[in-house]
Amino acid sequence: MLDPDNMMPQLIGDFHVHPDYSFDAEGTIDEYCQKAVEKRLSELRFTTHFDADPKHIEREGYIRINGIKEKLTDDAMAVYFADISRAYQEYGPSGLTVVPGVEFGYFSGCEKVVNSLKEKFDIQYSLGAVHSIGDLCVCCADSAQKLFAKMTLDQMADAYFEQLNEAAGTGLFDCLAHLDVYRRFGTEYYGEAINNIHMGRIEKLFETMVRNNVGFELNSSALRHGLAEYYPTMDIINMARSAGVMLVSLGSDAHHPDQIAYDFEAASSIAYELFPYVDE
Ligand SMILES: [Zn+2]
Ligand SMILES: [Zn+2]
Repeated sequence: MLDPDNMMPQLIGDFHVHPDYSFDAEGTIDEYCQKAVEKRLSELRFTTHFDADPKHIEREGYIRINGIKEKLTDDAMAVYFADISRAYQEYGPSGLTVVPGVEFGYFSGCEKVVNSLKEKFDIQYSLGAVHSIGDLCVCCADSAQKLFAKMTLDQMADAYFEQLNEAAGTGLFDCLAHLDVYRRFGTEYYGEAINNIHMGRIEKLFETMVRNNVGFELNSSALRHGLAEYYPTMDIINMARSAGVMLVSLGSDAHHPDQIAYDFEAASSIAYELFPYVDE
């Protein structure tokens, strides 16, 4: 359905945004919602980070509450979810649906802590993400360099897809985030060969995703990161479609309200299955 005022698809939602509860992000829930209303989005799914891997809890195991870094306790998470409930009430009349979600950093054995959070709170959207291989973050500037220095491209890809496959196999997640995020820093390090490194690896992941009814997102932050293609690349999207894996959302991975729905006009033409009425 087209909005007659601006001819943008009216049903557009941004399903991957980080308010300032994520300690690497700026902008309150309200600032995000106001920007979303301004941009005439129909839906905003907040997906703050929840990285509870005991191996690097000191580095990333935090949430920011009222400007202060706090541990990922139930009390702290309760503040986040209460703020989203309030925003749901407040912005509904403006036509914006506000949904409580979490971006879970996957690690082997995370089931207990993820399930425990899901039992306590009404999490309506669970995004699963692989950010780390072993002790090192694959999508953080400094540690990605250290990680790549220790591994060949093949070793890195084996380890990354193994983790992602495990994540899909848990059945804990509605959607896997930025499927090929290793391209963020890996493209410069390993060169163009990285664009084909999913071949022979991602097929098994897709089978696991189909079996567990896990979808993937089209994440536009790759363009902000200076890459030519979204996460994932068109080649991966085509392979996913033929394997029967569902593209379930558009996400900007915004870490600032100005980044909401970044490049969504172009992205929505790729993610045509999300807009069944647009191309008629
Ligand atoms: Zn992520
Ligand atoms: Zn994110």
